[in-house]
Amino acid sequence: MLVPIKEELLVKIAETIGGEDARKIVEALREMGSATDDQLSLKTGVRLNLVRKILYRLYSHSLVTYDRSRDGKTGWYIFHWRLQPEQVEGFIQTQKRRFLEKLCTRLEFEKSHSFYYCPFCSVRITFEEAMEIMFRCPKCGRSLGFFDNQPIIEFLERKIEELREELGMRQ
Ligand SMILES: [Zn+2]
Repeated sequence: MLVPIKEELLVKIAETIGGEDARKIVEALREMGSATDDQLSLKTGVRLNLVRKILYRLYSHSLVTYDRSRDGKTGWYIFHWRLQPEQVEGFIQTQKRRFLEKLCTRLEFEKSHSFYYCPFCSVRITFEEAMEIMFRCPKCGRSLGFFDNQPIIEFLERKIEELREELGMRQ
C-alpha cells in the first residue's frame, strides 16, 4: 500500500542522498508505480547511466526495490523499479542511530578535555593545545581564558537522552 506522507518524505530523503536527479527519479516512480531504468531516463531527462547509479544508491538504502522479468527476445533480465515507502521509517531510524553515535563521541571528547577560549576570535582549543602555544590565542595573540563547556555537555546529554527515547533505547 502506498502511504502519501511517507512518499513525500521519501522524495526529500532521495534529494538528500542524490540531489535534484534523485528527486526527479523518485517523483517519476511515484507517478509511474513501476518503471525500468530506460523509462525513467526518458521521463526525467536524466542520463541512463546516472539513472542507474542513483537507483543503486537508493537501493542500497532500501528506499527502492525491483522485480525482475526476462526479456522474451534477448533472454536478458529487465529490472522494474518501484518505491519502498515502508522503508522510510527504517532509514530514519538508521540516520538517528548514526547521529546518536556522533553525539556520544562528541560528549566523550567534551568530558575528557578542558578548553581555552579567545572571545575576540571565537577560537576554542584544548588545554593541551593551549599549553603548547603558552595560552595565547593563535589568531590574535591575546591571552586565552578558561572555557566552561558544562553547558555543551548538558546540551549533548539532553540530546542523547531524547534520541535514545525516540529510538526506544531508554535506559
Ligand atoms: Zn584571539
